[in-house]
Amino acid sequence: MRAARSTDRCPGCGGTRTWEAAQSVEGRRLCWTLDRHCAACGVQSCDRGRGPAPEAVRAAVVARHGTHLLRLEDPGARGGTVPKVFRDVFDLSLAGTARAAAALRGDGYEGTHPEVRLLAALLAAAGLPAVIDG
Ligand SMILES: [Zn+2]
Repeated sequence: MRAARSTDRCPGCGGTRTWEAAQSVEGRRLCWTLDRHCAACGVQSCDRGRGPAPEAVRAAVVARHGTHLLRLEDPGARGGTVPKVFRDVFDLSLAGTARAAAALRGDGYEGTHPEVRLLAALLAAAGLPAVIDG
């Protein structure tokens, strides 16, 4: 799991609200959580979901932990496995899938640690070993 904590302004009372955003892998799916708590008025919320993280959650995780690069051990590998894995993980459009697959076969696909770890596991299970740098 990769988590990031920060504070913002509570929309209810204007006090300082603390929040924690996290991204993880459960089974063969990405998961995310966003927990917020205002100590001033006591309001708290817990949002969670499966699949790609909302942009705010992902941005917080990237800001705190950075990204990692995923590359195929054999960049020349062809076939539909790579696009299928990206579609399964991210629900990408055809164009988005093609861009991600091209990056993976080129300089590498940049993602959060949970994202590249899940991609690497699914690719390896399909017979395409991949390496994560960093
Ligand atoms: Zn509040």
